[in-house]
Amino acid sequence: MLRVAGKVALVSGAASGIGAACARVLAAEGARVMLVDLNERAGNAVRDEIEQAGGTASYANLDVTDEEGWIALMDQVRSAFGGLNISVNCAGTSVTELTFPTDTTLEEFRRINKVNLEGTFLATKHQLRLMRDTSPVCGSIINISSVLGIIGQPGIAAYNASKGGVRIYSKSVALSCAKERLNVRVNTIHPGFIRTPLLEASIKRYGDDVEGRKFYDNLQPIGRLGEPEDIAMGALYLASDESSFVTGSELVIDGGYIAQ
Ligand code: NAD
Repeated sequence: MLRVAGKVALVSGAASGIGAACARVLAAEGARVMLVDLNERAGNAVRDEIEQAGGTASYANLDVTDEEGWIALMDQVRSAFGGLNISVNCAGTSVTELTFPTDTTLEEFRRINKVNLEGTFLATKHQLRLMRDTSPVCGSIINISSVLGIIGQPGIAAYNASKGGVRIYSKSVALSCAKERLNVRVNTIHPGFIRTPLLEASIKRYGDDVEGRKFYDNLQPIGRLGEPEDIAMGALYLASDESSFVTGSELVIDGGYIAQ
């Protein structure tokens, strides 16, 4: 039996990495998926791949920091699919270089928080409105934070702050929904180090592809870097009715990194 059959899902950041893996897995498990990203070419390629595999998907170009864009997109999802059950908010960005806190510019701090934190706020707000209007109401919002939303790391305070914000923001929304007895669950996933284009710049800091990769493999207690599919399987669980008692929680998927 397919695990999210009959559900409508939206995945942001779906053109690449973790978001693309989540979109593929949700579609393979029976959801109709709306892919959202800024990278139209790559987003359409993921959509085509899903459709060739027998799934149902659409692609919409959206900057997740654009509130008017979210309002228009939710109207589009309502018309095309009749409502919304699942969202995985993956769109995100990271620091361009490590900086000591006295050298971090306000511009850089705002750039990261605008996409990671404000983007998640806008996504959650407008997705929740559509989920509330969906009949029957049966929603699951999954916000992608990071292990770096739980533990700090020197040089990336702006990213730490944005991901810590996503973590606690999501708990508050989960409790608001629970208090209203609205059947929408809200949870976060905290990936450890996952092999995606976002991590490539960091890998390069430790040598070429082989050396950098080896450095990151050895950094994980489990002995290997994570793959986007490792995160997608957690998102699938939180998206499905198997997790119907899970809300306001944080799912750490990190090969043991923060257990140390
Ligand atoms: P990625 O770079 O492969 O994918 C990110 C996607 O987000 C890209 O397709 C990009 O175009 C899109 N995007 C960026 N800004 C956007 C915007 N303003 N509007 C719409 N789309 C936008 O990165 P990834 O590693 O798959 O990251 C996905 C999420 O997982 C991010 O939130 C990231 O912070 C988080 N994360 C990643 C790792 C890791 O090791 N890769 C670890 C922890 C958390």
